[in-house]
Amino acid sequence: MGLIRFERKAETVGFFSPLAGMEYAEQTIETRWDPLTGATSTSSSELATKEEMFYGKTDWEHAEELARSSRDGCFFCPEKVLEATPKYPDEVVAGGRLRRGRALVFPNLFPLAAIHAVVTYPEKHSLRPSEFAPDLLEEGLGAAVEFAGRAERAYPATRHIEVCCNHMLPAGASMVHPHFQVFGGEGVPALVQKAWECSAAFTREHGVSYWRTLCEEEKAHGERFIGEQADCVWLAPYAPIGNREVMAVVPGAATVSALGAEQVAALARGLSQVLAWYEEVGLSAFNFTLYGGPIGDAAGGGAAAARAAGDPDHPVVLRVIARSAFKPDYRTDDYFLEKQLGSELIFETPEAIAATLRAGF
Ligand SMILES: [Zn+2]
Repeated sequence: MGLIRFERKAETVGFFSPLAGMEYAEQTIETRWDPLTGATSTSSSELATKEEMFYGKTDWEHAEELARSSRDGCFFCPEKVLEATPKYPDEVVAGGRLRRGRALVFPNLFPLAAIHAVVTYPEKHSLRPSEFAPDLLEEGLGAAVEFAGRAERAYPATRHIEVCCNHMLPAGASMVHPHFQVFGGEGVPALVQKAWECSAAFTREHGVSYWRTLCEEEKAHGERFIGEQADCVWLAPYAPIGNREVMAVVPGAATVSALGAEQVAALARGLSQVLAWYEEVGLSAFNFTLYGGPIGDAAGGGAAAARAAGDPDHPVVLRVIARSAFKPDYRTDDYFLEKQLGSELIFETPEAIAATLRAGF
């Protein structure tokens, strides 16, 4: 048995059901616990085939109409982006905005953290998930990684930096024009803090990194392992925190800014495949976040042991989830279960997701 505990519990619910001609029928509900944080995911035998009822199918005509109607006056499009978006002081980014290939980085006009930058492709006013090609993502993520390094140097008190994305309205995007956000500062978000603390506790207890161990154990189990490239391991997480969640772990990279060019390229390639798959199954909106470990001092008590083995307690991890499909009157997928009870309803099992994606990686 490995060091990581994959816990799940099934419960049976029975009643006289109109779905069975008012005969007594049973359904099975399964709860899974995330092996690191204890976060829960719930699945139901009766709902397993009803994802579309909850998430819908994308109405692409409606999406294209919104893209057309929002094109004029868009602040991120080429005619406006250089006059309508803010600039950094030269000591942060010489010239005020960072360019990398087709990607452009500038400050968020209404920041929610000391470091809060926007990364966009001015020439791309709208993109379907399948249009995030590997080279396009590589430029966007590469720009975000380069900016993260500059931000760390410019703001020495920085403790955390993530690269995040809300794509399309159901995922929380306020603009149609695709963009990512680089988000960081001193105030560490609660889920990030929890992941850091649980990771450090694992190192203290076992003397090895949770994340390296997770990659090794999942590779050995096989059923949730998707693929591996350039020290970047793709998995379907055991207890997902969103629909059709896929995760990449780069066990040797301590922070977002420490990612090398090959790792960024590997993340871009894998992410591109996951996003194309979302579109294939009728989805369109998504979130992803690229998490790093603590910046500066601060890795906590287990750091020394893990570093002795060459790994940070909490390395760079990318998590991507699909959201409600974009269509008129789409329904939120964030209700009491997620928002107030801190659990998640899952349809496609992690094992099925990995089996589907593995072939293409
Ligand atoms: Zn635009």
